[in-house]
Amino acid sequence: MKIFGFGAQSADDKLAPIMFERQEPRAGEVAIKITHCGICHSDLHQVRNDWGNTQYPCVPGHEVSGIVTAVGEDVKKFKEGDRVGVGCMINSCQVCEPCQSGEENYCDGPKSFTLTYNGPANPDGTNTYGGYTTDIVAREEFVLRVPDAVKSEMVGPILCAGITVYSPMKHWKLQKGQKLGVVGIGGLGHMAIQLGKALGAEVIAFTRSPEKKDDILKLGADKVVISTDESQMESMAQSLHLLINTIPVPHDINPYIAVMRPNSALIVVGNLVSFPEFSPSSLVFNRITLAGSLIGGIAETQEVLDLCAEYGISPHIKVIGIDEINDVFDTLASGGDGEFRHVINMETLRNHDAIKNDAAKSIPNPDRGEVVNRK
Ligand code: NDP
Repeated sequence: MKIFGFGAQSADDKLAPIMFERQEPRAGEVAIKITHCGICHSDLHQVRNDWGNTQYPCVPGHEVSGIVTAVGEDVKKFKEGDRVGVGCMINSCQVCEPCQSGEENYCDGPKSFTLTYNGPANPDGTNTYGGYTTDIVAREEFVLRVPDAVKSEMVGPILCAGITVYSPMKHWKLQKGQKLGVVGIGGLGHMAIQLGKALGAEVIAFTRSPEKKDDILKLGADKVVISTDESQMESMAQSLHLLINTIPVPHDINPYIAVMRPNSALIVVGNLVSFPEFSPSSLVFNRITLAGSLIGGIAETQEVLDLCAEYGISPHIKVIGIDEINDVFDTLASGGDGEFRHVINMETLRNHDAIKNDAAKSIPNPDRGEVVNRK
């Protein structure tokens, strides 16, 4: 299938129109016309090679919402016309212990899971291209059913931002009435506030941005702490049961350890690069767990999508045209513009002049790996 999209050829490149071919859906695979795709800060990290592992060309997008256009042989759960979503993964071994227990995101098969873009998590020289494109193909096991109550433009951010913060709440067993801290109120953070409230927690939002305070309270946060204000930080000393830290860059972790109560857990999901040196003594003296968490498995992703429908939880988004992507990237890199999530309306790609005038640059075709171990 001929596909158009926006991608980058190097870390210094702007995203620009590209074209390539996707292999038609094979047995067990689903082809999807993309209607919307959310912009995650990870897209920016990957395009700019912040993690040192980017394969170029890089065609990002893992918050995909769309409509099934074709199904391969033996697909059981989906048919043409269904509204569906695809998150951060499109393939995995399906038979390792994590895959068997619904944690494909920790697949320990030979390639680990295959990312929706940037290829397998254990690179094998192949590349995948994500949702800043007209259409995508994924194996059935990685396609999510969209409940009627969730609008198409709202689906994507639940499939990455939503699941990434929901999974640690479940894993570390957040209880009703416990105090949940959320640090960095952007795409992930604003979903964490809403999901934490749905699970019955008292939610304390930590932000550097006082101008966001009213909007954060409207999301349901019980309290907003301005993280640059020492006295506000001190007032929270040793108070939290669970904290989800979404700050995307290296930063001092000490002030966040200081707000954790004994036996609590501080979960890092944002900064994947480094922390300035810190003393573990405060972890030791209060038996605090410092841990990380990566997206979530497919069953849990379906669970959070269904939960959003049930509780009326919705990402707060700004819908943009595909030509605005590079500006949004610059905005995210400089700390955000107060919008919680940007979502691309993919009709603006389909109607783009570069497509009409045949001006999109041709790039090598992606390879999404074999569909192994179907049940
Ligand atoms: P956003 O840019 O939407 O939000 C991040 C928020 O962090 C900002 O809104 C801001 O909040 C705060 N922030 C930004 N820059 C700084 C800074 N320099 N210092 C301190 N705080 C800052 O990003 P996302 O929510 O999309 O993603 C957050 C991080 O999570 C990214 O690094 C992303 O790659 C990662 N991620 C991880 C996943 C995982 O599986 N572990 C999955 C998806 C994303 P405020 O103004 O309130 O302070």
